[in-house]
Amino acid sequence: MSKTILVVAEQRDGKLRQVTYEAIQAAKLSSNEGDVIHLAVLGSDLSGLQDSLASLGVQKVCIVDDADLEHYNPEAYASGLSQVIESSNPEGIVFGHTAIGRDLAPVISAKLNAGQISDVTAIEDSVEGVLYTRPIYAGKAFEQKTFQSVPWVLTVRPNNIDADQTKGAPEVEHISYQKPASLRTVIQEVVQKTSGKVDLTEAKVVVAGGRAVKSAEGFKPLEELADVLGGAVGASRGACDAGYCDYSLQIGQTGKVVTPEIYIACGISGAIQHVAGMSQSKIIVAINKDPEAPIFKIADYGIVGDIFEVVPQLTEEFRKVVA
Ligand code: FAD
Repeated sequence: MSKTILVVAEQRDGKLRQVTYEAIQAAKLSSNEGDVIHLAVLGSDLSGLQDSLASLGVQKVCIVDDADLEHYNPEAYASGLSQVIESSNPEGIVFGHTAIGRDLAPVISAKLNAGQISDVTAIEDSVEGVLYTRPIYAGKAFEQKTFQSVPWVLTVRPNNIDADQTKGAPEVEHISYQKPASLRTVIQEVVQKTSGKVDLTEAKVVVAGGRAVKSAEGFKPLEELADVLGGAVGASRGACDAGYCDYSLQIGQTGKVVTPEIYIACGISGAIQHVAGMSQSKIIVAINKDPEAPIFKIADYGIVGDIFEVVPQLTEEFRKVVA
């Protein structure tokens, strides 16, 4: 019998986020022939998404459009999503392992009494069923798990699973939002902390600064390098604690987890808590003036030097290639 897998979309400023396409691919890797994929899209004034939704490679798009859903609110989103779940009756639900996914997925799992596997970085078939790989011990090791029962809930780490590229013409269902009896959380204002053009968790290139940047001004050369490469700027906790940048840039065990194609660590020692947030990057470049710095142990390319000399030189060279 065919089953339904529901993917929970993430959208921002009228655009589907990249992680949505990766979650669709995760749903496809979790399905068998004949299974159907539905996409839940929650938000307010979603008309701008029409074109991108109309060509998605899923069978059905379920839209819940209400002013209450303009900004993420756990209770409102849990309520809207529960209505989609009621309509789609999915066997599995896939979220991005993003700030929203990390918050909402456990709420839905608890509501459905479902098993959950979080922060999945790879999916493969096996004789025991679909195997989900996820990091443990702050990225020091990986474990593989399967679901033993339904329904199940999955969150997938951004930038790890190839995005779904298929095109289709899904059926569209508008589901009316039913306001919960009381909303205990009220969003008064959303303060945009990062002005970065590229979302740090989805960036293909991350240029991260450590305590060695010495000041907020010291991030400027890193921002220029990130701009040239179309990437985002991140930071170690050392840099955040010193007040050189906002904590929203922190990468690591207690910060964001990033998996870019290229990670450039500038003046970062490579403490285990930092490495937990970036060790899965495809290529790691480390710039540090201490040749014994632990970051070099995990780096694919190491540059022993002063970031204030090396970073502007890299920017200049990349500018010639990219221009
Ligand atoms: P430092 O350790 O001070 O390293 C600076 C580096 O810059 C040195 O290697 C030095 O050789 C080099 N350097 C100095 N000047 C230059 C120059 N001009 N050019 C080139 N290189 C230069 N940290 C995180 O990053 N993320 C986390 O999420 C996180 N969570 C934590 C959670 C817990 C519970 C704890 C206890 C710690 C956590 N930390 C985290 C902190 C972590 O242990 C380190 O203290 C922190 O990562 C150090 O930051 P840093 O590498 O920028 O600074």
